[in-house]
Amino acid sequence: MHLLYVCGKKATTKLIGAKTMYKVRLWSVRHAGLLEKVYNAVEKCLVRLAPVFERVGYERVEKPMALIEKSVKGVLFDCQMCGQCALSSTGMSCPMNCPKTLRNGPCGGVRENGNCEVKPEMACVWVEAVKGHALMQSANNLNEVQFPVDYTLKGSSSWLRVAREKAAETAAANSDDALTSDKV
Ligand code: SF4
Repeated sequence: MHLLYVCGKKATTKLIGAKTMYKVRLWSVRHAGLLEKVYNAVEKCLVRLAPVFERVGYERVEKPMALIEKSVKGVLFDCQMCGQCALSSTGMSCPMNCPKTLRNGPCGGVRENGNCEVKPEMACVWVEAVKGHALMQSANNLNEVQFPVDYTLKGSSSWLRVAREKAAETAAANSDDALTSDKV
């Protein structure tokens, strides 16, 4: 799998086939609830591993982690590695697969059958997002505003960044608690 992604998206599409990749994308949306649970478990592990990453150096971990993320998410979501993953707010339907890369809802051109105006053979990623979101437990909702893509993050691991941020938040909360108990 890694080899496929090391080869690049074009080669992967050639090997797996564009139709199969599209079918897998739709499967992922239909199983958004399950994938959400899997992701939450992975995230917990990554947050726990934060002290190890800290010791090794995040910059060293970045490359292998991005490669793993690209391999897994490339197959499941046709991920473009934007570096700011929105899947948990978009029903596991990657907004970067919208031909207009719209990250805050559909354009006005969705066809009557729910397909894309630019690629009529493809379901609108936002129509899929609504379906997937209905299957998820996450408090993140579809109306959450997504910031414009920061292209300096392209190719980087969203998993690692989120885990790093969450670990830092936990550490800050723990040190606040320690300060409060010292004062008491
Ligand atoms: S939102 Fe970005 S990181 Fe998430 S699957 Fe899509 S391209 Fe990949």
